[in-house]
Amino acid sequence: MSSQEITLGWELELIVHLQPGEQSGLALEAHKLRALALTLAEQVPNLPIAAHCIHRPSASCIICEDAPAEHRLPHVRVLNPATPIQLPNRPIEDLYYFVKREWLNVPTDDDGERLAHGFEITSPILSQTELRAGLPQTKQILGAIRKSGLPISAHTECGLHFHVGVKSGMTLSIAKKAATLVMLLELPLLKKFASEERSESRYWFIPISKRSKFISFADRYHDEVTDAIASPELRQHVPDLASMKPAEWNSNEPKRLHLALNEIWLTDSIWRLSMGLFSYEGQKASLVLCTREKNGETASEPAPGTTDNLEGTPSTLEFRYPPMSFDIDFVKSWAEIGCKIVEIATRDTAAFRQVATDVLKELERNDASQWERLLKVLDLDHQVGFWRQQLARFDEDEPIRFLDDDGFLIPQKK
Ligand SMILES: [Zn+2]
Repeated sequence: MSSQEITLGWELELIVHLQPGEQSGLALEAHKLRALALTLAEQVPNLPIAAHCIHRPSASCIICEDAPAEHRLPHVRVLNPATPIQLPNRPIEDLYYFVKREWLNVPTDDDGERLAHGFEITSPILSQTELRAGLPQTKQILGAIRKSGLPISAHTECGLHFHVGVKSGMTLSIAKKAATLVMLLELPLLKKFASEERSESRYWFIPISKRSKFISFADRYHDEVTDAIASPELRQHVPDLASMKPAEWNSNEPKRLHLALNEIWLTDSIWRLSMGLFSYEGQKASLVLCTREKNGETASEPAPGTTDNLEGTPSTLEFRYPPMSFDIDFVKSWAEIGCKIVEIATRDTAAFRQVATDVLKELERNDASQWERLLKVLDLDHQVGFWRQQLARFDEDEPIRFLDDDGFLIPQKK
């Protein structure tokens, strides 16, 4: 049952507000990006930090105007260089904590001009060692945001996304197993840990077990999974799906969920699997199979009549469930959940089937402590204490920690 080493990356979405007397509209967006990137670089000098520029390759912009020439790359200012400063044939984002613009819902004045700007900070590719150590670098970054002195806010439309990959490369089989586990755990576990406020938003929370193309196409031609259409592979990996009873976790439509799982396992390529996970309206769902070529660049659709070449690539499973957080324990817990799901998916058929069997057994007993038992099945019981506290905060209408009554980030003492 040996599992494979996994990799992690995250994306944090946050809003930086104007100070009193500053100009509304887009004019100060680059200044705010610069301010955010500079404060991170100053406070965390040991980590590689870069920012997206707005200049053309030959000129400079407000973000990079005072940078040494070797730190001005096409579209990028390096603030704290990595060693080496970049890798040939790899996206520069793989190496840096990166500050970029992000189109977020921000407050505006009476003329519709923006009073704040949305940004995203992405992590470099992090190793399992970093995760096992409790994400100390991420803790530094979150601390620097809280000590920045900038007026920062976030709301539950701001996302916290995790990209989980496999060091030796993504495979169709691993991606199918991960998507299967997510189908089972999405409503009873992932939804609960994303806060009610975020999960009630039709636009920001799109469960694959309710709104993916797999779900919508699954029952177009069939009422149930018969022997004639059944995927033998699904039967090998997950037992007894035909005996599922209607329950909240399967939206009271067990046959429909079974058909969708069957569709997943009949899929013959990573590209098609990624397409089937999109929402039936064509949006990214809360789980995305993010397809990448061997060099790390975003994959493009295979030409008609050809198959994709995505086996063994740095493609990732992107978990887009939780809202942004400034709390390292929240970020760490979600990172562990995403990584654990993918790690289980790298195990062999028998070991995976055992976990799926245990999950299904717990799903049959729907009571208040079901989520605790599911964490235990995932071997994440050490998280139970944290989630008890966090679920109480959600109940007290505090979906994001460390915000004041006006929604602004409470500074952390230096
Ligand atoms: Zn620039």
